[in-house]
Parts: sequence; structure tokens; C-alpha cells
Amino acid sequence: MYSLKKRIFFFIFFVFSFSLNCLNLDEEVKIRKIPTYTIKNVEYISIKSFLKIINAENWAKIEDRIFIFFNDTQIKFRVNDTQVIVGGKSFEIKNPLREIEGDVLIPIEDFSNILSDLKKTSDLKGSSEEIRSSGEEIRGAKKNEKRFIIVIDPGHGGHDTGAIGTFGLKEKDVNLDVSLRLEKYLRKQLQNYPNIELYLTRKEDVFISLEDRVNMAKTLNADIFFSVHTNSSRYNKNATGFETFYPYSKIETNILPKAEDGEGEIEGKNNDSVLSQILNNLNETDVIEESRILAEVIQEKLAERLVTPDRGAKRRNFYVLLYTPMISVLTEIEFICNPNIEFNLKDVEVRQAIAETLGNGIIEYLKKREIIK
Ligand SMILES: [Zn+2]
Repeated sequence: MYSLKKRIFFFIFFVFSFSLNCLNLDEEVKIRKIPTYTIKNVEYISIKSFLKIINAENWAKIEDRIFIFFNDTQIKFRVNDTQVIVGGKSFEIKNPLREIEGDVLIPIEDFSNILSDLKKTSDLKGSSEEIRSSGEEIRGAKKNEKRFIIVIDPGHGGHDTGAIGTFGLKEKDVNLDVSLRLEKYLRKQLQNYPNIELYLTRKEDVFISLEDRVNMAKTLNADIFFSVHTNSSRYNKNATGFETFYPYSKIETNILPKAEDGEGEIEGKNNDSVLSQILNNLNETDVIEESRILAEVIQEKLAERLVTPDRGAKRRNFYVLLYTPMISVLTEIEFICNPNIEFNLKDVEVRQAIAETLGNGIIEYLKKREIIK
């Protein structure tokens, strides 16, 4: 059974990589009559056109870094930079990637050369190991200092509002504001530790699928994935308290199943996708155990600061907990469905207090693990 799954997986992978190898970008631009831009005698196309040509749907922009998720292959580069990483292989291009009016532009000739070079070597593989090592390259590795990467994930966004309170306060807005405050607080508290890097899966009110959130964390090779949500109860409008979840299990898969909007709780055996492989390594238990410890520290800190009930650290396979291979927790900071709590959550001081408390939980964990002093 296992080997059959494996064979299906490799077969599909082969077909995809083959099509990228055979692509002639220069020709495709002409045939499809794609609009081009000329900057200093160099011809560019927009990233949207490029995605259409290679038939890739998922991409992400984190600050000046662009990640394109092309099935099993990841293409990564930075705006104004000349290094492009495709499936773990690094390419130096002549003309830098540009960004004009929010549109990222790709130099046609340079990318044509990359694709034809891939055709020659034909070693386009995107094993997670290679993604890891290429992740090091794009950030310009500081070899002697061990990097520690924390991804903060403000839940929901865009058309996915999350829960909405009686007076109209939206969960997505609370999650984002608390996360931004948390980031700012941590940056200040950890300023003497440049090896600790912080990222957010979103910094504005935009929709990001659960797959992309997981992909971002994987691409960044994060050590901690920290998801911020606000709770709601269908049955008890007066519910109060805070709780933090950590996963039952972890699943490693190169092709993530499509997730519904929302919290993405995985029930029963839904995870048994044909293309997914259960992560059968010893790390899994460690990662879950560390997630539990982090979840408990967060709860302890919240209990010291908030007067509402401590609902505990609990196990649950939310999508972002199940599919992220690193330490991962999801905190439900309070109940937005409770009008009294909703009123409090509108207060910036309450949000700041919650953000700092979450930050202190993370700091406490980093100290426990001697990542900081
Ligand atoms: Zn939520």
C-alpha cells in the first residue's frame, strides 16, 4: 500500500517537473502576446504573467521576498536582487528583479536562461532538504550563529472575517492588530538577538489560504509557528477564557490538501490523502512535545495577566498545526461572541496587554530552551 502511494506521488511529480523543463519562456511570451515592459533596455514581464505561463497558482510575498510554489518546486527571489533559487538550485542573473507600483517584474531573457539551464541539467527536484538549504541561501546565511525563526500567523483576513461580535467587531481585525503588536514587542525585547528572526504570514487585511500559511512557514524553515485567533462559541454567548492548542500529530506532504476557510480543524481520517505521507521520523514526537511545552507556557502567562478562565493547553489538529513540520501552537485569546469581552477587545490597551503577554510566553520558552539568556 505504502509503495503504491509512493509511486503515484513520484509519477505526478515527474510530469510536473518535465513541463517546467520544457518551457520556452521567450517563445511563450510571443505566442501568448503577453505585455512586456522595457527598463534600461531589458525586457520584463509581470509576475502574474509568469505565473500564468508556468501554470502556478500559489505564491507569496514576504517583505521583499517572493516565493512561488510550483507543485513540488519552489522558485524564490528578492526584489532588486540577482539571485534566483529554483528547486534548491541557485542562479545568478544579469538583471535584477524589479518592483514597480506594487507589480513585481521578471526579466524575460534571464528567466529563459534559467529554464533552459534546468533543461540541460534536468535535476529539478524539490525535496524538503533542498528547500531547507536553499532557504538558508536566500537569506544570506550567517554561518556561525544558529538562526531561530518565528512565524506569527494572524488568523483569517480578507473575505474570511472569522467570528464577528454582536457589535460588529471582526476576529480577523483583532487577530491582525494583536499579532502586529506582538511582533513589535518581540522585536524590541529580542533586539540583542539578531539570530532570532520574526515573520508574519500577513501584515494587512488580505486573505491567505491555510495552505499558503503552511507553505510560508516551511519555506522560511521556521522553528516556531504561532497562530493567533479569537474564540467564539455557537452555544454559549457568554463564554469567556483563553486556550492554546497544540497538535496531536504532524503530517508531512509536498502537496497540501485544499483547506476550507476558517480555523480548518481536521476531523477524523480526512488527512488520509493519496499524496500525503505520514512523517515517520523521530522528530515528530519531539516537535509535538515542544509544542505542548510552548502552549503551556503561553497559558501560564495569560493566566497571570487575564482575569478570565484558563481553559488550558489542549491538543487539536487544526490545519496549520497538523501540516507545519515545526513547533506549532494556536492561541484563542478570548471570546469575541461575548459582548462584554468584545467591548474589551476594542480597547487598544487590552490588545497591547494580550500581545505582550503572548510575547512573554514566547520569551519564556526561548529561555527554557536556552535560545536566549
Ligand atoms: Zn479563528
